[in-house]
Amino acid sequence: MKNIGHLINGSIVEQGGLKQDVFNPSLGKVEKQVLMAQKHTVELAIQAATEAFPAWRNTPTVKRARIMFEFRNLLERNRDQICRLIGEEHGKIAHDAAGELQRGIENVEYACFAPELLKGEHSKNVAQDIDSWSEFQPLGVVAGITPFNFPAMVPLWMYPLALVCGNCFVLKPSERDPGSALFIAELMHQAGLPNGVLNVVNGGKEAVETLLSDGRIEAVSFVGSTPIAEHIYSTATSRGKRCQALGGAKNHAIVMPDADIDNAVNQLLGAAFGSSGERCMALSVAVAIGDQVGDALMRRMKSAMDGLRVGPFYDSENNFGPVISPEHKARIIGYIDSAEEQGADIIVDGRHPKIEGHEDGFFIGGTLIDRVTPEMDSYKEEIFGPVLQIMRVDSMEDAMHLIDAHEYGNGTCIFTRDGEAARYFTDRINVGMVGVNIPLPVPVSYHSFGGWKRSLFGDLHAYGPDAVRFYTRRKTITQRWPSAGVREGVVYSFPS
Ligand code: NAD
Repeated sequence: MKNIGHLINGSIVEQGGLKQDVFNPSLGKVEKQVLMAQKHTVELAIQAATEAFPAWRNTPTVKRARIMFEFRNLLERNRDQICRLIGEEHGKIAHDAAGELQRGIENVEYACFAPELLKGEHSKNVAQDIDSWSEFQPLGVVAGITPFNFPAMVPLWMYPLALVCGNCFVLKPSERDPGSALFIAELMHQAGLPNGVLNVVNGGKEAVETLLSDGRIEAVSFVGSTPIAEHIYSTATSRGKRCQALGGAKNHAIVMPDADIDNAVNQLLGAAFGSSGERCMALSVAVAIGDQVGDALMRRMKSAMDGLRVGPFYDSENNFGPVISPEHKARIIGYIDSAEEQGADIIVDGRHPKIEGHEDGFFIGGTLIDRVTPEMDSYKEEIFGPVLQIMRVDSMEDAMHLIDAHEYGNGTCIFTRDGEAARYFTDRINVGMVGVNIPLPVPVSYHSFGGWKRSLFGDLHAYGPDAVRFYTRRKTITQRWPSAGVREGVVYSFPS
């Protein structure tokens, strides 16, 4: 059985107490085990990062950017291997894994602009012979804790920018599919990164608690479910650390009476069922304006779902693969059962698909539920599975109230041909990422990613310009070089 260890000070370290099984969800079989770091292993990683920091901080920014550029090229060259690792451990179909990796690479490309991003602000002659400027200095050692659903991309949201800004990093990937993050970190070293600048520790709660309690960690970036995000944010900030913690979601799409329904159905298919709905930006609720739209949407969605293919990751004809674990599969089925018990209509039932030759895989077929209401558990909570729920309301205002009342505010979308309605919606809705006829409005790498309400704890969003601010501390310097012969007298009033 293959072991997945840690990467500390440039070397793979096989150290840990317990091991945890890593499944191949397409087969339902354990093929690898991950070593779960205990406190002392995490401390070794923090120590390596702390020792690497002074030299890395003083490395010219352009040299750090060049390493990132080489890293980008290595990611391109190792595309197939990375996608295979994602497929084996997460179950994502190759075309979907390739999309995830591409988004990760775009974050690396943004980090290559470090000299431009860190230029600072300069004002000459703010008073006689006095110049003032702000520069952005690294924080020190920072940590990243990431979820299972984007095992390659989410770590790449974090450390490329943290590193080019001059920080050292300790990454704690999801213990459920850690292989691709570890392999990618090895590529970072092949690209020329000095030892200790980036370390990877695998593990669970003990590893995370060690990162949160260690005074040498200056900041924590977290992406995962809302209860854990809230815990990470309150613990890290109570210990004086900077923290951004991105949490769960429930993303609604409004379908207006004037929308092109066939287009909306096509967009909803990909956004609801792609990656088995295990995306924090998955569109899991379609809000139809009026019963006529609701009926049309339900009928066309039902017929389009005849063509949906769920199956193992290595068959690219499949639209989506298995879910991550047997426990998660049971949880999703529980939500579908509860919707049925609470009075919703199960239009397409994916609870027990038959996948020949893969009877032990963790598969759930695409599921469509109609006449869902706000009190239902399947609506209130994040399902994180291939389940689309249809709700019906009377007006766009009612739909916006529904969205605003939900605890999450990650992404949303409106399908319409009415520019005025779209503009009103984008301006007023209390959600962090908004699409107009765009089902997954995931910002490009040179903008920043983040939700509102209980989808994000902290002030700054992930990647892009916000991340440059998150991973740096502003210092403002005011300097006088008096002209020859000029002597300042004593001044007791406040300088102005
Ligand atoms: P999770 O919260 O279970 O785990 C995330 C990370 O936290 C993992 O590294 C895990 O080891 C660690 N962790 C889990 N329990 C912990 C505990 N009790 N104490 C300390 N650390 C703990 O999330 P997941 O199931 O891996 O990922 C799915 C969730 O992530 C979904 O809710 C999804 O919406 C969310 N997500 C959000 C975004 C976003 O950008 N907002 C992006 C991707 C995923």
